Amino acid sequence: MSDLNLSMVENCIANLSYPTNAFIGGDFVPAMSGKTIASISPITGEEITEYASCDKEDVDKAVSIAKKTFESGVWSKMHPTERKKVLLKYADIIEKHTLELAVLESLDSGKPVSDCYTIDVPEGVHAVRWHAEYADKNYGQASPSGDGAVGIVVKEAIGVVACIIPWNFPLMTTMWKLAPSLAEGNSIIIKPASVTTLSTLLLVKFAAEAGIPEGVIQVITGSGSVVGEALGMHPDVGVISFTGSTEIGRKLLEYSSKSNLKKIVLELGGKSPMVIMDDVKDLTNAVDNALFSSFWNAGQSCTANSRIFVPKSRQDEFVELMIQRMDQTWRIGNPLDPQFNYGTMIGKFHYDQVMGYMNTFLAEGHNLAYGGKSLTIGQGLFIQPTIFVDPEPSSDLMTTELFGPITSVIGVNSNEEAVAMANNVEYGLQATIFTDNLVNTFKYARAIKAGTVSINRYCEGDITTPFGGLKMSGFGGQDNAGAAHDQYTEIKTIFADLTQSSC
Ligand code: NAP
Ligand code: MG
Repeated sequence: MSDLNLSMVENCIANLSYPTNAFIGGDFVPAMSGKTIASISPITGEEITEYASCDKEDVDKAVSIAKKTFESGVWSKMHPTERKKVLLKYADIIEKHTLELAVLESLDSGKPVSDCYTIDVPEGVHAVRWHAEYADKNYGQASPSGDGAVGIVVKEAIGVVACIIPWNFPLMTTMWKLAPSLAEGNSIIIKPASVTTLSTLLLVKFAAEAGIPEGVIQVITGSGSVVGEALGMHPDVGVISFTGSTEIGRKLLEYSSKSNLKKIVLELGGKSPMVIMDDVKDLTNAVDNALFSSFWNAGQSCTANSRIFVPKSRQDEFVELMIQRMDQTWRIGNPLDPQFNYGTMIGKFHYDQVMGYMNTFLAEGHNLAYGGKSLTIGQGLFIQPTIFVDPEPSSDLMTTELFGPITSVIGVNSNEEAVAMANNVEYGLQATIFTDNLVNTFKYARAIKAGTVSINRYCEGDITTPFGGLKMSGFGGQDNAGAAHDQYTEIKTIFADLTQSSC
């Protein structure tokens, strides 16, 4: 249990000052055009503030400053141990502002403030510390070239990095990308999702206090089709690290091919499975994880396990237990009140999309076990956690990333059938297996096509394990662990032929 209570949140809101401007060259500045976008809270339906709606000209300015800063060496040539110290200080400062960041994130996104306070901000801070520590530990290699030569392979910062962020875990994803790219000495441009700009702008406010030189970090707010495209097409951006939808991932590949062939790292969508093997005796742990993976963040999670495969002989028991544990452990209500662990959808556009799917599934006569409706709680955009049973294999319930609180429990005749069905989608981001048997653990973990397979607990690994997708869930690199640093560095070979007299 955390120390957070409602009066702490209310006091914090009373004293919050909302960021409005983009962050370029160490200053908060309006868009050159003066245009703004309203930020609407999905909890109250009211405008929180307005923020800068940037255009290509703002992107050009930010990239030019980032490039100059990189070339100046003020950060890129700073000794890695010094960069480490600065980033560790940055993590400490961010941690001191946990409440403010968590409240702003909740207000802007409808995520439960208790999650933001106990998961999103602390895990983001942990990531900043982990990657800071890696700054002076990321070794290159010496080649086995024999006595006549010395070949060394060094890793060098790329230069200007752009990070394009989705709205479902705005702060955490930003910190996942910002920390390793800065640890390696790059200058960065962050493009937050339009519906969740505020926490990112607050985060970068603390950069100078930590000692990060101006021009190393910029945040360009505005529409994806304008700012995102301008970054994608820019000749001086060396890499784009993108987390978001498959559709926009394709566009980024196009921008790269039409411009400077910049490196594109794609962390995309998923339709992740959970497989309960036929050897599991007690279903309670699996059921609690099925609920968490399906309904955490109101299902707006790229690794949501929305296809849960259960032996046919245990299916009724599993679904009954899910409904029982749902009512015992999930509390739906005002996301700003820490007693609730289930909040709203991100915004009206997405609420309408998910309810559109829901109404189609109901009209098609799918077997509904729980939920199926929207909920009226204040002005919030709530959708009930929803469980369907045994949808047709061709249904969107089985093939499409719904990005909402809708999950399906599917009865299977064998472990092999479950794994074959688990693999029968175009995505491969994450999978969870429940088993009491060591052989099944490794046999089926190897058989499932996913970037991460977790055993007996739904998770995405931790900061020490690479996170990324297979198949249409992405390629080009991973977040977390040393792999994240590979996204933001390029390899150079330096080769000395010792047989030449001039060497
Ligand atoms: P999205 O629509 O793809 O948006 C992601 C980001 O791309 C936003 O910042 C968006 O800006 C920007 N964007 C939009 N159009 C663009 C364009 N033409 N060029 C460049 N950038 C553009 O995705 P989302 O709705 O925010 O997030 C949900 C998706 O992200 C889901 O598919 C989910 O699975 C995926 N996701 C994946 C992971 C993972 O690690 N694999 C993690 C989280 C989420 P605007 O907001 O201004 O449109
Ligand atoms: Mg918002």
